[in-house]
Amino acid sequence: MTEQSRLLRQIPAVDDLLNSQGVSALFELAERSVVSDCIGTVLQRVREFILAGQDIGNWFIEADGEQLIREDALYSAISCKVKEVVSPSLRRVVNATGVIIHTNLGRSALPKAALDAVVKAASGYCNLEYDLVEGKRSKRHEHIASSIAAICGAEDAFVVNNNAAAVLVSLNTLAKGGEVIVSRGELVEIGGSFRMPDVMEASGAVLREVGSTNKTKLSDYESAITDRTTLLLKVHTSNYRIVGFTQDVSVKELVELGAKYNIPVMVDLGSGLLLDENCLPMPDGLVMDEHIARDFIRDGADIVAFSADKLLGSSQAGIVVGKSDMVRAIAKNPLSRAIRIDKLSLAALDATLRLYLAWPTKSYQMIPTLAMLTKSLNEISIEAEEIRSRLASVVSKEFGLGVEPGYSKVGGGTLPLLDLPTVLVAVSPKTISADALSKMLRSAEVPVICRIADDMVLLDPRTILDDDLDALVEAFRNLT
Ligand SMILES: *Cc1c(COP(=O)(O)O)cnc(C)c1O
Repeated sequence: MTEQSRLLRQIPAVDDLLNSQGVSALFELAERSVVSDCIGTVLQRVREFILAGQDIGNWFIEADGEQLIREDALYSAISCKVKEVVSPSLRRVVNATGVIIHTNLGRSALPKAALDAVVKAASGYCNLEYDLVEGKRSKRHEHIASSIAAICGAEDAFVVNNNAAAVLVSLNTLAKGGEVIVSRGELVEIGGSFRMPDVMEASGAVLREVGSTNKTKLSDYESAITDRTTLLLKVHTSNYRIVGFTQDVSVKELVELGAKYNIPVMVDLGSGLLLDENCLPMPDGLVMDEHIARDFIRDGADIVAFSADKLLGSSQAGIVVGKSDMVRAIAKNPLSRAIRIDKLSLAALDATLRLYLAWPTKSYQMIPTLAMLTKSLNEISIEAEEIRSRLASVVSKEFGLGVEPGYSKVGGGTLPLLDLPTVLVAVSPKTISADALSKMLRSAEVPVICRIADDMVLLDPRTILDDDLDALVEAFRNLT
C-alpha cells in the first residue's frame, strides 16, 4: 500500500464523526443534515490535500512510526465550516481608521433613537403606508416629508433609497427628453461609479456641458439655453475642490437666469448637512466649507437632492426637497416605486429627523457622525491615552505603544480638503510587520480596521465608538 492510500484510509466516515462527542455542540447551531454536509466538505478537503501531498502535518500526527489523523484538527475545521455557513457575513467592525463617513464600513452609525425606532418598526407591524386616523392607505414618504421640509424651509419633500436614485428620478421627471445644462467643473464621479454623465444618460436627459473645468460664467449657461433646455443643474463637487484660477456660478444667479427663461433649477448637494455653524459648533477653530440645503432653498432652487447617510448621519436614503408641484411630480414617477425606501431605513430617518426638530442646538451630540466630526482635540487626546493604557495592559513587550498627532478625514466624498487634527494610538510590532498585525486585527472576533503608516498600526479614537472599546482591547488581547 502506498503512503497516500494509507493516509486516505485514515479518514473517518461522515457518520462516525456525526455521532461523535466532538461535533455534538454544533447541533445547537444547525440541523444534523447541515452539520453532515459540512463534515463532508471538510473530509473532501483533507482528501484533496493528501492527493496533492500538501499540508499533511496539519491533519496527521506521527505516533509509533505511523501517521494518525488528528481528530482535534478535524473537529476544529468542521466547527469553523459550520460557523461560516450559519454566521451572517455582514458583521460589526471597529472603525479605527479615523474616516468618519467610511462608505466601505457602512457610512453613518445611527443615533440611539433611530436604532430603537428600527427595532420597533421591524419587530412587528407598523403604519408604514396606513393612515391611523382615516383607517385607509397612505404613502410611506409622508412620515418624513413634513419634518425634512421644515428643517430645510422647503414646501415639500420626498424620499427614495439613496441619493443616486433621488438624482436619477428627479432628472427623469423634470428633464427627460430635453437638455440639462451643467458646468464642466461639476461632472463628478462619486465612488462606486456614480458618474453624473452616466446618470444623466440613464435618466433620458441630454447633458449639455458648459464652461471649462476651472471656470464657468453665467453667460456660458445663458448662451447654451435653447427651447430644448429643461433644467439647470448645479452639482456639489463633493469629493474634490477646484482651487486656484476659478470661477463658478452661484445657485442664486442660476435661479435668476432660470426665472428669466422659465427653466427650473436643481441642486445635487450630496452631503446632506442640515446644520449651520450656530448649531454645529466646530472645535479648535475648524471651519466647515459645506452648504446646507436650507441655503439653496432660500436662494430659490426648485429641487435640492441629498443623501441621508452622509453628514445628515442617518440611514441610507436619498431626499428631495423643493417646490411642491415638482416634488409631487417626482413622487408620481413610476420609477419612484422601483427605488422606494424600505421601512427600516425610513424608521431610522424619521427618528433622526425628530432629533433635529426637537434639539436644534444639541442634536449634533446625539448623532454619532456629527459627534465624531465635532470632537475636540482635547477629548480625543484623553481617549487616546485611555486606549493606549488599556492596550498596554494586554499586549506583550513585542508591541511598542505610543500616541502621536495626526489627522482624521470626514470621508464619504465630503469635505475633501478638511483635515481634522487628531491624536493617534500608534502600535509598532517588533517581531511582525504592521501589515501582518493589521491582518490579525481584521480576523478578530469583532474585526478592527485600522490605518498603517511607517510600519506602525494607527488607531484613531475619533471613529472608535464607546461600545467598541472592549472589542478593540479583546482583539489585542487575543493576538497570537
Ligand atoms: C454621495 C453623492 C451622491 C450619491 O449619493 P448616495 O446616497 O451615495 O447614492 C450623488 N451626488 C453627490 C454630489 C454626492 O456627493
